Amino acid sequence: MPEKNFEVKDGLLYIGGVSVKKLKEKYKTPLYIYDQKLLKDTVKLFIDKFKSEMFETEIVYASKSFSNLYVLGLMNSLKTHLDVVSIGELYSAIKAGFNTKNIHFHGNNKLYEELEYAIKNNVGSIIIDNPSEYERISEISKKENKKVNVLLRINPQINTDTHKYIQTSNADSKFGMHVLLDETNILIKKLIEDENINFEGLHAHIGSQVSKGEFYFEEADILLNYLKSVEEKYNYKFTKVNFGGGFGVEQKKNDKYLNLETFLTDFIKYIENKIKELNLNIKSVAIEPGRSISNQSGNMLYSVGYVKETLEGLPIIFVDGGMSDNIRPALYDAKYDAFLANKMNEESTEHFRVAGKLCESGDILIKDTKLPKVKINDLLLIPSTGSYTFSMHSRYNRIQRPAVVFVEDSKDYLAVKRESLDDILINDNYYKGE
Ligand SMILES: *Cc1c(COP(=O)(O)O)cnc(C)c1O
Repeated sequence: MPEKNFEVKDGLLYIGGVSVKKLKEKYKTPLYIYDQKLLKDTVKLFIDKFKSEMFETEIVYASKSFSNLYVLGLMNSLKTHLDVVSIGELYSAIKAGFNTKNIHFHGNNKLYEELEYAIKNNVGSIIIDNPSEYERISEISKKENKKVNVLLRINPQINTDTHKYIQTSNADSKFGMHVLLDETNILIKKLIEDENINFEGLHAHIGSQVSKGEFYFEEADILLNYLKSVEEKYNYKFTKVNFGGGFGVEQKKNDKYLNLETFLTDFIKYIENKIKELNLNIKSVAIEPGRSISNQSGNMLYSVGYVKETLEGLPIIFVDGGMSDNIRPALYDAKYDAFLANKMNEESTEHFRVAGKLCESGDILIKDTKLPKVKINDLLLIPSTGSYTFSMHSRYNRIQRPAVVFVEDSKDYLAVKRESLDDILINDNYYKGE
């Protein structure tokens, strides 16, 4: 697995050759810091390992995990495909110069205007979630006189080993069409018969932070067996299959995670064998990593404002950000490690909690972490925070969104500047006294 480009000099942490102290002076804290080389190496690993002689492969970056013009441009330069789930993500990708043929449109309730925008801009494919979306696509494609590539999202019902909020394939899931429902069959028939639709294949996405490869093998079995049964029933040939993302990462030391090097190689072999066994005509196989591409390269840097003793429980380190820049601990109990980036050589001796500055008792970033003695103005770094942090940012308490900076080869590149106070007011109107 590609390594983080961390280095320690005189007790101070350097990422991509740039000291965090310098980054703080230049961009202030809180600050999202991305290790650009690690991000590139991770994408290359996916491209190199998920490869086959039998069919084309697509690495579709799930942009919802971390999206802005800079990272989208970087992904485009690395020749990934892109998964977008809203007109906002699609617009950003188009503005970033992303090749629209490589953009795939997802979501469980795509709006008419979103679909119209996607079809007019000739996106690579639309992954249909439900019959109502199909009706909208059918109408728009006729009006625009276009043939639209679509996949259908199937729910193969696999109960993964992950938090309930990031499971997506239970029997009661809001995503996709269940393999056992009659409606699914009816929809499939319509998709096959519609002349403005090129029904390429099936898609599934079983959850996120999945740490065992067997869940994906099970998914491949169910999805490809189902695909075969549809082909036989309707005398139809699919050309494409997409197994989604969700590959688990090591967010915290000793977490269970998928070793991408071995997993991707095993998964390709598994898919190849299954395709051979079923004698399918699949020409293209896609996966959609989000977190497993963007998470490990991201780090969150904070300054310490105070260390508060409470009557009970561990002392609390106050940092200058919190649930506004990383909602995950509050939303689904995500766990992280931390260290003092200016005291890397000091021994960790005491346990602390880490809390943000937002007005919620739930604004606890870490419930227990071991650190050296902490002082005001120390730099606290939470590593492996690259996914679903910046992209889930909120302006609760009218907090300004922090900057995003990329570092590589001792250089830093500002990807998103820190919001100004006026940015917070940008859409507000004054009360005129009526
Ligand atoms: C969120 C999502 C992904 C990416 O999930 P990760 O856990 O970030 O890898 C891929 N495909 C679909 C359809 C998704 O909704």
